[in-house]
Amino acid sequence: MKSLWSDQEAQRLTHNLEGAERDLALRVYTSRLIGSDPDLVLHGGGNTSAKSALQDGDQDIPVMFIKGSGWDLGTIQAPGLPAVRLEPLLEKRHVDRMDDREMVRFLRANLLDQSAPTPSVEALLHAFLPAKFVDHTHATASLVLANQPNAAEIARSIFEGRLAIVPYVMPGFDLSIAGDKVFAAAPPQTEGLFLVNHGIFTVGEDARTAYERMIEFTTLCERHLADHRIVVPGPETSRPPESAAIRFKDALRGALADIGGLFAEKVALDYRSTPSILTYSMLENLEEITSRGTVTPDHVIRIKPFPLIAPADASRTELVRALEEYAQRYTGYFERNAKNATEPKVILDPLPRVVIVPGVGLFGLGSNSKAAAIAGDLAEQTARIVLAAEAYGRFTPISEQDLFDMEYWSLEQAKLQKDKSVKAA
Ligand SMILES: [Zn+2]
Repeated sequence: MKSLWSDQEAQRLTHNLEGAERDLALRVYTSRLIGSDPDLVLHGGGNTSAKSALQDGDQDIPVMFIKGSGWDLGTIQAPGLPAVRLEPLLEKRHVDRMDDREMVRFLRANLLDQSAPTPSVEALLHAFLPAKFVDHTHATASLVLANQPNAAEIARSIFEGRLAIVPYVMPGFDLSIAGDKVFAAAPPQTEGLFLVNHGIFTVGEDARTAYERMIEFTTLCERHLADHRIVVPGPETSRPPESAAIRFKDALRGALADIGGLFAEKVALDYRSTPSILTYSMLENLEEITSRGTVTPDHVIRIKPFPLIAPADASRTELVRALEEYAQRYTGYFERNAKNATEPKVILDPLPRVVIVPGVGLFGLGSNSKAAAIAGDLAEQTARIVLAAEAYGRFTPISEQDLFDMEYWSLEQAKLQKDKSVKAA
């Protein structure tokens, strides 16, 4: 992976700017560089921050610009990186417990502009990491290794202590506390965090350093895979749908109308058939492998814990049955795990977001084309990661209970409800 940093562009963007304005302009610039590469982040994934100072009355107060929820790094602008007061955030370092809603209220209360978007759920971890710039991604190559049973050991050998290693902890307050403790205990020259089952954080005193460390650590993952003769193909193109795909799509559309529920009235189906997807769809143990979980915790919110698998020649009636079985299986997953949750949960709709058709490809499902394309993109990245992870060792993502906790996290449910364009996605 190559750095896209350009001194010329950075100078153009910061011309005549100083202080917080300059910090923010550089933060926007490298956030967009990260967001422009789907092998670093996809669809609202990842987040970035910069610490600075702003004038409040006649004094300067320490602030942090942090990615706001609802923004994509690839297209982010200054309003997508609202400023929060830094000092109150740092005081939370020694708090034992904070529930999700309380944390969001607290973060919002510390926004300088109350009309700004809600700070990322990782805002506290960004605040705790003692560096001016902090970048976080779910890079494809890093996830191949982060989802190995011995991920921590692999990371120690690849990064040689330059990244401190955090075992899986649910994103939000708990991860902020755990990440801070690990980083604080690591040597002072540590350049970031490797999060098992999740991704990478890098830090730097300037925008370029934090960004280029991300590129370098991702490249180290790619090289390590290459040493094991594993090349994760770059984004690939789908072949146009052939008759089997067209027939299946019609049958699926019909079955979704017959079954009622979320997609009865309106559904968008995004067809994908890249070489990786076709190989993945033909795996002998596809059923088992797709039951293991998602490649990074975030994804479960968009694509559910597992896809529906259906044969290419399934009729409309057979697909109605398959969808009913999927709903039963999903309800079983809900009931098994909801009883362990700390608060009562309400089941989300039980229809799949990804349908895999062995030998033909896969469909992303959504109530509009944007939501369907997001599901398609995440499923496509999943196929590339799982194939590489299995070639390397064994694809071993977070447990079912952890997936459930993420999917049914009150904050994440709130995020989906707010994001009107993918509402009921
Ligand atoms: Zn993340």
